[in-house]
Amino acid sequence: MRGRERAYIALGSNLGDRAEHLAAARAALDALPRTRLVAQSAVEETAPLGSREQPPYLNQMVLLETALEPRALLAACQAIERSRGRVRTERWGPRTLDLDIVRYGDRRIDEPDLIIPHPQLSHRDFWIRELTELGGS
Ligand code: ADP
Ligand code: MG
Repeated sequence: MRGRERAYIALGSNLGDRAEHLAAARAALDALPRTRLVAQSAVEETAPLGSREQPPYLNQMVLLETALEPRALLAACQAIERSRGRVRTERWGPRTLDLDIVRYGDRRIDEPDLIIPHPQLSHRDFWIRELTELGGS
């Protein structure tokens, strides 16, 4: 694939059939144009972040090789979230599916709606663990 980059995507779900949402997300990411899913971490359960009472999450990280630019990849991730019935309410509220771009090659992007590497990376032990599992850092 020409111009491909390695992108790490964090998957999270804490509503409905969580494992099914993650499985559907993996399949949808792998089916994106000029993209393939090359590795996936173990799925782990984590306590919710933020103040509101909400159910625990299932989390997983995947490694994509993709020729989609970061902004196109973000739009694709948001379309996949919507396809799983994601409704955006409050920040860090419960959701059927959350897809966050954690890293995109060596790229550094700092725009209002897209920050890469993801600003929460250094604060989330489970992301760091999953990245390491996938050979990233
Ligand atoms: P959360 O912070 O819980 O992931 P959302 O999924 O609702 O919340 O995302 C809020 C906004 O974060 C999105 O509208 C998106 O534009 C923005 N955003 C900024 N950087 C990233 C990134 N690296 N990956 C995904 N979304 C991002
Ligand atoms: Mg998100």
